[in-house]
Amino acid sequence: MDKAEYKGVWVYVEQVGGQARNVAHELLGQGRLLADALGQELAGVIIGEQVAGLAKEVFANGADKVYLVEGPEFSHYNTDAYTITLTDLIKTYKPSVILMGATNDGRDLGPRVAARVGTGLTADCTNLGIDEPTGLVAWTRPAFGGNIMATILCPEHRPQMGTVRPKVFKKPEPDFSRAGEVVRVTSKVKAADLRTKLVDLIQVCTASCNLEEAEIIVSGGRGLCKPENFALIEELAEALGGAVGASRAAVDAGWKPALHQVGQTGKTVGPKVYFACGISGAIQHLAGMSSSDIIVAINKDPDAPIFKVANYGIVGDVLEVLPALTAGFKKLKG
Ligand code: FAD
Repeated sequence: MDKAEYKGVWVYVEQVGGQARNVAHELLGQGRLLADALGQELAGVIIGEQVAGLAKEVFANGADKVYLVEGPEFSHYNTDAYTITLTDLIKTYKPSVILMGATNDGRDLGPRVAARVGTGLTADCTNLGIDEPTGLVAWTRPAFGGNIMATILCPEHRPQMGTVRPKVFKKPEPDFSRAGEVVRVTSKVKAADLRTKLVDLIQVCTASCNLEEAEIIVSGGRGLCKPENFALIEELAEALGGAVGASRAAVDAGWKPALHQVGQTGKTVGPKVYFACGISGAIQHLAGMSSSDIIVAINKDPDAPIFKVANYGIVGDVLEVLPALTAGFKKLKG
């Protein structure tokens, strides 16, 4: 492999139903910083059905170029169709760096593509930078149960690939005066390549579990004592128009499905307000929520570690504090 042939930073612009996921914009902001530091161009890769309109916002968020592949085979995420297409784009245009969201689809697509192009991938990164003096991307992610942060380099292979957790980075301020070049690429996917077919779409995630996009999250932990008490979390979340989160202890106990788990092995969230109710504040939980703008902790133990990261702390019994908060917010709303 001639590494010098590989140039440019790419961001895979994951979209659903023609709408780019927030993480794609967050990564365009980071991609711009990396591209500027490397003196290379930033490109967005858009794959989908009738998604050309997304190019404008991709340019506005920092890209110089867009690689666009459209077709009915991309109407919904399909592992084979997307893997074949992204692999083919990489082999043809040879980028040096690719950033993807660590979403369900990104976690499915990234490693497959990396294996096909013969490179490595750092999964679930929480920070990015440039390693001096090598000029390689420094991919940082939690390791050993979140007890250390490991920084990983990919010196021998190209492209350097990584998935990055949603909400780790802020979205850049879009500049709609920016424009760029759209490179339309024809899909090479054939019907015979597709080993799976979408039979039906079943909505399992309602607004209450859309944690990554939520502005307010009310999360419950083992301190709720029994599953029925999670209703108190749901009532406060509903009163505030927020989503419902849970600690791993609550998920492991079967009180809430894993879709709601916040933390190192759950979702990374960054709402305006995060309520941690009956949650101790273990490092693995903090890894998923400490970038929230405002953290409100309710815990009966005044020495609980969660109070070290909280902006507001209420020392008390969640079973008493939660109904009082819900009633108070309902009254405020009238
Ligand atoms: P506990 O630690 O048991 O805390 C319960 C808290 O509730 C205590 O602080 C207690 O004082 C308080 N409390 C009890 N009763 C009341 C009451 N009536 N009113 C008010 N407060 C009360 N954890 C995650 O959350 N997310 C992850 O993604 C995650 N990933 C992990 C990955 C690995 C590799 C490992 C090893 C662990 C992971 N964990 C994760 C587990 C984590 O270490 C903790 O065990 C977990 O977060 C604890 O959940 P908790 O705070 O609900 O329970």
